[in-house]
Amino acid sequence: MNTELFALRHIGPRKEELAAMFNSIGVENMGQLMFETIPDEIKLERPLNLPPALSEYEFAQHINTLAEKNKLFKSYIGLGYHEAVLPAVIQRNVLENPGWYTAYTPYQAEIAQGRLEALINFQTMVSDLTGMELANASLLDEATAAAEAMSLLFAVRSRTKKKSKANKFFVSEEVMPQTLALLETRATPIEVELVVGKHEDFDFSEAFFGALVQYPGKTGKVYDYEAFTKKAIENDIKVAVAADILSLVKLEAPGNWGVDVVVGTTQRFGIPLGYGGPHAAYFATKEAYKRNIPGRIIGVTKDVDGNPSMRMALQTREQHIKRDKATSNICTAQVLLAVMAGFYGVYHGPKGLTYIANQVHRKAVQLTEALEKLGLYQENELYFDTLSIKTNAQKIEAIALKNEINFYYPAEDSVVISINEATSMEDLNKIVHVFAEAIGKEKVSLGNLDQDLIEASALNRKTSFMTQEVFNSFHSETSLMRYIKRLERKDLALNHSMISLGSCTMKLNAASEMLPLSNPKWGNIHPFAPVNQAEGYHEMLEKLEDYLTEITGFSATSLQPNSGAQGEFAGLMVIRAYHLANGDAHRKICLVPSSAHGTNPASAVMAGMKVVVVKATEEGNIDIEDLKEKAEKYSENLAALMVTYPSTHGVFESSIREITRTIHEHGGQVYMDGANMNAQVGLTSPGRIGADVCHLNLHKTFAIPHGGGGPGVGPICVAKQLVPFLPSNPMIKTGGENAISAISAAPWGSSLVCLISYAYIRMLGEEGLTSSTEHAILNANYIKSRLSDFYPTLYSGERGRAAHEMIIDCRAFKEKGIEVKDIAKRLIDYGFHSPTVSFPVAGTMMIEPTESEGKAELDRFCDAMIAIRKEIEECDKSEPNNVLVNAPHTLAMLTTDEWNLPYSRQKAAFPLPFVSANKFWPSTRRVDEAYGDRNLMCSCEPLESYMTETEN
Ligand SMILES: *Cc1c(COP(=O)(O)O)cnc(C)c1O
Repeated sequence: MNTELFALRHIGPRKEELAAMFNSIGVENMGQLMFETIPDEIKLERPLNLPPALSEYEFAQHINTLAEKNKLFKSYIGLGYHEAVLPAVIQRNVLENPGWYTAYTPYQAEIAQGRLEALINFQTMVSDLTGMELANASLLDEATAAAEAMSLLFAVRSRTKKKSKANKFFVSEEVMPQTLALLETRATPIEVELVVGKHEDFDFSEAFFGALVQYPGKTGKVYDYEAFTKKAIENDIKVAVAADILSLVKLEAPGNWGVDVVVGTTQRFGIPLGYGGPHAAYFATKEAYKRNIPGRIIGVTKDVDGNPSMRMALQTREQHIKRDKATSNICTAQVLLAVMAGFYGVYHGPKGLTYIANQVHRKAVQLTEALEKLGLYQENELYFDTLSIKTNAQKIEAIALKNEINFYYPAEDSVVISINEATSMEDLNKIVHVFAEAIGKEKVSLGNLDQDLIEASALNRKTSFMTQEVFNSFHSETSLMRYIKRLERKDLALNHSMISLGSCTMKLNAASEMLPLSNPKWGNIHPFAPVNQAEGYHEMLEKLEDYLTEITGFSATSLQPNSGAQGEFAGLMVIRAYHLANGDAHRKICLVPSSAHGTNPASAVMAGMKVVVVKATEEGNIDIEDLKEKAEKYSENLAALMVTYPSTHGVFESSIREITRTIHEHGGQVYMDGANMNAQVGLTSPGRIGADVCHLNLHKTFAIPHGGGGPGVGPICVAKQLVPFLPSNPMIKTGGENAISAISAAPWGSSLVCLISYAYIRMLGEEGLTSSTEHAILNANYIKSRLSDFYPTLYSGERGRAAHEMIIDCRAFKEKGIEVKDIAKRLIDYGFHSPTVSFPVAGTMMIEPTESEGKAELDRFCDAMIAIRKEIEECDKSEPNNVLVNAPHTLAMLTTDEWNLPYSRQKAAFPLPFVSANKFWPSTRRVDEAYGDRNLMCSCEPLESYMTETEN
């Protein structure tokens, strides 16, 4: 074996296993399988033009050389991004630990209690600090969270008759520029009118349904919004506050004023800047809006024995169900980052956070004093960490750059300085030095660190926070390390067994791909730092864009969207801009096949389009006749078709070119949902099938780990006519000549994790990528053939082949009293995470093994599925007490003194010989989904007897 070839590490099946797999499928070789799977007319005409594969060792050298091209200046730019100190115990045990980063979204609650608990900690921390009743488990970034707040308030405005027609949303001019840009992007298509101004001058007229203010303001000034909120409430105007999470440790919580939503980012709770992300934003609101909260929310419920357990709550409210009635398309969020920020809160606790916030604040006060001694004028009367100095910005900038320092320069006569957890006394002295030099004065020394402006102000925080036991228990490294491990052990991730999630592509996230993330030369760059300080980043990002453009067969790529769903929205907004530029403002109809992922219709509505559903045939393909009829009918107003390819049914539809041609004939553009790119790379492409734009899920196809439900990167790749409209950013220009406004807060979205996909492509090269696609298809078809006598496959291509995933039909087992979810839970007893359940067809499972799984693991999975099939045979509807409906079986249940179930303990826990070698014990019995929604509880229990004595 060529030990330098990364492809041999990434791809599971060994060469010597292939013959048996081909034999099982009934093909001679890979060539024949590809021939039978992919329609001839869409095959690529030439191999992808990509650089040759690097070995893992070569890549490590290469990426370090690139990292050296980034310059680590001290950034005091602020604007929602601050250098942070990631506790090493969290870096090593979470960020660098596949037990955490390779986990899937916690749909199977029984094997996800660890991250569910970590996320409840995050939610509790956020609710406490903001003073709100409820917080979700993260959003993509602060700007997106603010836009989601606007959408929520717009959606609920009709609850009071007076506001049912109001369409104006007030935005304080103190709101961050990137947030304002995103609000514009989101407001325009849904016909919300933004009015920007000073909150002091706001006229509380009837036309407004809501308002957004920033706390503290973008240049650091702290306003008291209590009176403003009161007046807004009197006038039936809802208030959202974008708040800095660390400042809330010292400043009174906005929840106390009665505001409706509080949003922000938790980046400064230990998360690297990463040149823009990923970081977890937060969204906190009132109980009254619980059914409108975007993203995911974790709730406490009970299992069948009545023991408390956790789950994702209110799933019925997700876009999957609401589709074109949804007001948000958030699916993937920032789970791993929320978990890390939550652990940061656990590690420091309320006292540690108070210490950190005090240090930051007092350093800012100290700096103000020193600068005032120099004769400079600091504009903010009350501030937390950010000073605004009136002086010649150009002069300061030149000297600051010489000293490797970045400030924020909002105007010619203004310099803004944001202090953070990583700012040392030496750093403060350097800052003073820069100003002294600029105005030609002698340097002054810093005063002492005990002056606190906030404590003396009316906004001094009096509400206690994070009094729960979990935030007051794990302050030594040993105790936190063990707490993290205790939670990790409850969760099944890719380091235990295969997670064959249809549509989600849970492939290997190689250690070599992940390592660069820990390098501060990548981690510590502010997204709004001058671009010439990020040369390493730009080389990497530009190459990645080029590779993705080549792979999709298009003309350009934007890496800005932070998830697949954001990519959909971005792509549709680009299509919208294209139609507008052509004078076709009326083109608003978006055709969406009935089998589409729920985010598709939700995104279309957000982009101001009207969804028209296209039927599917019995074989699961798009009904061409219906498509043609609808394209004809709406020809005048057709904006786009959204199509997933291969289809969500796991089939390469042979009529795809006819479909895209039809749309073009009627003046529409074709949006391809790229979630299934793992079946295309190197063999066909969105460009080849005739699409105009697609998003990719780098967290599916391109090896970014799922993180337990995020981070994600959802770049869009576009054909030539759409290039001018690619999204920009208000702080640093990106995108096309005629760019749409921002889709996410940072110019290049989550730059840090783009390193992973870059590594993936560089180490596989053209041959490795193509081979990965082939093996993904091979593995799916191998499972299909092995299960064919036991489970019917719902759909196949014309020559009987599945693509990279397949759907098995479990609906017939209802006769035996068995639902598809019973199979999902029973798989846990065998040590496996269930495949996708009931998407895109209710009562089915969608299995996607990916190329990274070897034959041995595929065989174990198939053996488990076959054994379960036999267990189903033994079931009887009239006797619903069996090994399936009782699954999963916990260790506690099996070791009770009494056992009166109609099957043995051995059958329950060790149904096949291979299970005992790698037994995974679920930490809870089956959770009660309905109970949790009826009794929504989204924070950890308060510690009743919390003691106030000082800790050791
Ligand atoms: C995963 C997925 C999406 C959404 O992507 P996110 O990154 O979760 O927002 C959209 N469509 C399909 C078919 C998917 O599988």
